[in-house]
Amino acid sequence: MHDDVQVFCPTCGDGLPDTEFFEAVGRWLEGHEGESLRCAGCRIATPVELVVSVPAWALANLALVFWSWPRLHDDFVAELRTVLSPRTVWQWSKL
Ligand SMILES: [Zn+2]
Repeated sequence: MHDDVQVFCPTCGDGLPDTEFFEAVGRWLEGHEGESLRCAGCRIATPVELVVSVPAWALANLALVFWSWPRLHDDFVAELRTVLSPRTVWQWSKL
């Protein structure tokens, strides 16, 4: 279902099972807090919202969407990251 998404441990970089990731995402979306994935490589449990995914998935309580805008200037994106949080995830796509 999500063959195009790869999931990695942020501590050691080992791959994580994508099925466990999406199950945890589903529970997180239902409001369950404290969802985490344990890495088989380093044995560290990572909160699902901090797991690294490619392409990047962002689990957050705030999202800004610039729909049908031209590509945002790098300085603007950098300033937005400074104002919001160092954990800001930037996603870009064009239809
Ligand atoms: Zn690991």
